Amino acid sequence: MPRETSENNRHLAARRKMVETNLIGRDIYDRNVIRSMLKVPREEFVGEGEKETAYEDHPIPIGKGQTISQPYIVALMLQYLEIKAGDKVLDIGTGSGYHAAVMAEMGAMVYTVEVIEELKERAAAAFDKLGYKNIFLKRGDGYNGWPEEAPFKAINVACAPRYIPQPLIGQMAEGGKMILPLSDRMNRPQRLVLVKRDGDKISRREVSYVAFVPMVREKTRE
Ligand code: SAH
Repeated sequence: MPRETSENNRHLAARRKMVETNLIGRDIYDRNVIRSMLKVPREEFVGEGEKETAYEDHPIPIGKGQTISQPYIVALMLQYLEIKAGDKVLDIGTGSGYHAAVMAEMGAMVYTVEVIEELKERAAAAFDKLGYKNIFLKRGDGYNGWPEEAPFKAINVACAPRYIPQPLIGQMAEGGKMILPLSDRMNRPQRLVLVKRDGDKISRREVSYVAFVPMVREKTRE
């Protein structure tokens, strides 16, 4: 189908330009991140009407009041996590599924949790269509992580809690890393925080300013 081919070529060109300008052109140097973001078709993770803007460097609505994160922030978070092929990783806030797909493309075994059922279903359909076999999804409150599958080498959080969820710290592997947006101070921008575990020692460092949706806690039924 010639039309589809030219459409694919157009998306590929936009993808390459995004990687060159917004990733390499800034401070992204991790080869595994760059290679994976050159591969994952971001247009498959946005709505029909958004395909032509899929590669612009800003968040795009994905329905239910949520957004797919901007490519640069996705790359920056993954660069801090230093994910290697074969790593078991946890992704909180599946959203469109794009962030999880990039981690899967890096060779990780990805466990991703989304609180909104409809978004989880849509992401599952995109993973199926693209043939990702190393992504496992569940609907739930990501505050609790995925205890049955812990520990994780890396934890990526794409919604902002007010404090670092203790269950997630508990699910970090020895030498593991977690990156998350924190909105713990009123009227102050969210900060992107890198958490590391070395033995019993947990260290944290602020690495950037970000603007993620809040982590919505699931109400526990009495
Ligand atoms: N990583 C996503 C960006 C998602 S936006 C992507 O690449 O598209 C943040 C997502 O976090 C939203 O889909 C939102 O529904 C979800 N979210 C908010 N609170 C959550 C919680 N407690 N547990 C799991 N997911 C949550």
